[in-house]
Amino acid sequence: MSKLYIIPTPIGNLEDITLRALRILKEADILLAEDTRTSGFLLKHFEIEKKIHSHHQHNEHKTVSFISQEILSGKTVALMSDAGTPGISDPGFLLVRECIKNNIEVECLPGPTAFVPALVQSGLPCDRFVFEGFLPHKKGRKTKFEELAMEQRTIVLYESPYRVIKTLEQIIEFLGADRRVSVSRELTKKFEENVRGTATEVLEHFKTKEPKGEFVIIIEGKTF
Ligand code: SAM
Repeated sequence: MSKLYIIPTPIGNLEDITLRALRILKEADILLAEDTRTSGFLLKHFEIEKKIHSHHQHNEHKTVSFISQEILSGKTVALMSDAGTPGISDPGFLLVRECIKNNIEVECLPGPTAFVPALVQSGLPCDRFVFEGFLPHKKGRKTKFEELAMEQRTIVLYESPYRVIKTLEQIIEFLGADRRVSVSRELTKKFEENVRGTATEVLEHFKTKEPKGEFVIIIEGKTF
């Protein structure tokens, strides 16, 4: 039966693709990807020769209804992002919502996403957590930190190497210097690093070692 598949792809280590993901990428009628070049390398590595259509945040508003019509006409569509699970700080939500609106079956395969390993190996409680993704850069950033200061669940953030220091400084300012933090860098890659400690200790680390690569920041929730 035709449907929309959401396909998680590796966040650094190509061994993390699942057998089912590879089969569906081979079998799907239409492959959609955020960056056709990046996903093209992935498919080439797994010897899948297929045309990839572009589906990114700048065109997804326009293409979702066309794609859902293609599925309704009998085609199976598979959506990938550059890395990890589509829809998680990546395009995907609009297409999923449109398909559900049109009674199209949607199936998201389980697979790689950066925040789960970062959270689980942080050593901070992972029974209850809140995923905030990327914080606003300017407008609303202070308000967001004030809100996070009251949050009792473990907090999960995605961050770029250029803002890690600033974010750690603001964690100290709004949540306190002793708040426990775990920063995971370059997960699943050769230079994976996990730095755990108080916000002050973790900030000191990245002040002496320039932040490079991709980052997930896990912050302990407010305790009384
Ligand atoms: N869809 C992806 C997922 O499921 O995790 C997230 C895509 S988002 C555009 C990219 C951000 O995810 C990066 O800036 C970083 O915060 C995080 N990320 C992705 N890969 C990572 C890795 N290997 N190590 C640490 N963080 C990573």
